[in-house]
Amino acid sequence: MRVNLLDFDLEGLVAWCERLGEKRFRAVQLYRWIHQKGASDFDQMSDLAKSLRAKLAALAEVKALPLLSEHVSDDGTVKWLFDVGQGNAVETVYIPEADRGTLCVSSQAGCAVGCRFCSTGHQGFSRNLSTAEIVAQLWFAEHRLRQPAAPGEGVPFTRAIDNVVMMGMGEPLQNYSALLPALRTMLDDHAYGLSRRRVTVSTSGVVPMIDRLGQDCPVALAVSLHAPDDALRNNLVPLNRKYPIEELMQACLRYLEVAPRDFITFEYCMLDGVNDHLQQAQALVELVRRHGVSCKFNLIPFNPFPASGLSCSQRPQVQSFAAVLLQAGIVTTVRRTRGDDIDAACGQLAGEVQDRTRASERFAQRRQTIPIVVAKELQ
Ligand code: SF4
Repeated sequence: MRVNLLDFDLEGLVAWCERLGEKRFRAVQLYRWIHQKGASDFDQMSDLAKSLRAKLAALAEVKALPLLSEHVSDDGTVKWLFDVGQGNAVETVYIPEADRGTLCVSSQAGCAVGCRFCSTGHQGFSRNLSTAEIVAQLWFAEHRLRQPAAPGEGVPFTRAIDNVVMMGMGEPLQNYSALLPALRTMLDDHAYGLSRRRVTVSTSGVVPMIDRLGQDCPVALAVSLHAPDDALRNNLVPLNRKYPIEELMQACLRYLEVAPRDFITFEYCMLDGVNDHLQQAQALVELVRRHGVSCKFNLIPFNPFPASGLSCSQRPQVQSFAAVLLQAGIVTTVRRTRGDDIDAACGQLAGEVQDRTRASERFAQRRQTIPIVVAKELQ
C-alpha cells in the first residue's frame, strides 16, 4: 500500500524522506507542492529530480477523500460530504464572510460524546479520522475555492481559507494523535500558514487533553459549555460526569497561560426552556467571575432536528440572555445561522455513520429515561 503524504506534518515528511535517502530541503519542497500548490501528481513537481519523482510515484500518493456531494447555500455556505469508507461519510463546511473564509472541519466519523442537542451525537460513533482524512478536508477546500489574485497584487492567488475551526463532526480531543499533526500542517508556513489565533479547537471538555493541547500546540480554544451547573450539563453534555464544570474551569485557566488569545470562547447552544432562563445567564456570569476565566460567549441558536425533542429559544429570549452577559462586561455574540437551507448550520452536521458502539441506541435510551433537569427555582 502506498503512503498517503497528507498524513504527515513537516517533521513527519522529513523523517520519511530521510528514510529514502533524501535531504530535508527536498521534503520541504514536496510539502510545499502538496499543500501550497495543491499538487497530487508527482510529475507536476518540476523542481524535484526525476529519480525522486519516480520513487515517490512508486511508494506514495496524495490521496484526497472521495467527494460524495457538494451543496451551496443561498448565503454562499458550501457543504461537502466525503466518503471515508465502510459506509461512513463526514461533512465539511465552508462559511464565507466579507473579510474572511472559515472552514469547519470534522475529526471523527460520528461522535461518542452524545450531546443531547447535536445531530452528530445522535448518530453514534464509528471511528476516528486519520491525520490525512482531517487534512484532506482543508486541502480539498482550499484548492477548490482559491482564486487567482488580481493583477498587480504580487501574489499568485488569494487564499480562500483564513480560519479553521475543528467544530465539524466529532470531538477532536478524543482523536488527539491524529489531530496534532493536522494542526501543525495548518499552522506551518510551508503549508497553509494559518496563525494560531485563526485555528480553533472546539471541545466538549476533555480536561487532560486540553492540557496536552496547551503543551503541544496551543491554538485558540472553544469550550462547549451549554449550562451553568453540573446537574444540567451532565444531561446536555454527558462528558460532564467525568470532567465536571469545576475541573473544566481549572483547565481553562491553565490553558489561558499558553493560549494565543487572551480568552476562551464558551459556546452555548440556546435551548428553549432548558438553559435560556435569565437566572442561568446570571449563574454563568458568577461562574466565570468566581474562577476568573477571561472569556467570550458565543450564543448559538439551536438548529432543531426531529430526534432531539428540543426547540430553539425565542429570539427575544436570546437577546435578553445576551444582555445579562453583556451588562456584566462579558463579550457576547449571537451566532448568525449560516447554511441552514442545506443542513450545514451548527449542530446539523450528520454525514453517514455506521455506529459501531451502539452509542446512538444508548443515547436514545438515556433520553427516554433521563429528563432534562432544570434547577427547581427556575421551573
Ligand atoms: S456537540 Fe461535539 S462533542 Fe457533542 S456530540 Fe456533537 S460533535 Fe460530539
